[in-house]
Amino acid sequence: MAHFKEERTLVIVKPDGVQRGLIGEVIKRFERVGLKLVGAKMMVASPEHIEQHYTLDPNWRRANGEKTIKAYRDKGLTPPSEDPLVVNSATLNGLKVYLSSGPVVCMVWQGAHAVQIVRKIAGGTEPLASADIGTIRGDFALDSYQMSDVDKRATRNVVHASGSVSEATDEIAHWFKPGEVISYRLLNEAIIYAPELGSFLGD
Ligand code: GDP
Ligand code: MG
Repeated sequence: MAHFKEERTLVIVKPDGVQRGLIGEVIKRFERVGLKLVGAKMMVASPEHIEQHYTLDPNWRRANGEKTIKAYRDKGLTPPSEDPLVVNSATLNGLKVYLSSGPVVCMVWQGAHAVQIVRKIAGGTEPLASADIGTIRGDFALDSYQMSDVDKRATRNVVHASGSVSEATDEIAHWFKPGEVISYRLLNEAIIYAPELGSFLGD
């Protein structure tokens, strides 16, 4: 089995994050926690590439629709539809427009528990309700499902982050060619991962 420190995840600074000058802020938050950047590029994606990205996991459509319906109910609001696939189809259309509207910055971050740590730092999907203060989506966005659904667009939440290790593997392969993700040694990793650190005293 690969060591914990080999885990990788995909992060995308979405067009709203790029336009608002948040690329550095996003990178800073993953770098300072101790993750290693092993792939990075700016690109403009096609709507087809975005649809493929979100449907790599065949369960995503239903899970996304169910999450939205629950979020409406938790606020005492009526969801746009009772059918998760109907709710998701509007969201997916919005995502294709939103994520192909300008350049995005795609990154692969590596480190122990990378998927879970990155999701924790990114925050929940909906800035209004599920993204805590201190997270990227909680600190830099104010969008809600209600507002974005009324305006017929995707919720603007600055970043994408893979939701599971298998999603990460598929998404990295979707956005990066094998040679674009770089295996290298970072001196910082010793202090984070070495089982024995020895003594730091003396010259
Ligand atoms: P994530 O993994 O936290 O990004 O959440 P999902 O995979 O469920 O959804 C993907 C993206 O679709 C989110 O980051 C939002 O930009 C957008 N989105 C999700 N749910 C909704 C919704 O109910 N309405 C709208 N308008 N956009 C949504
Ligand atoms: Mg997701």
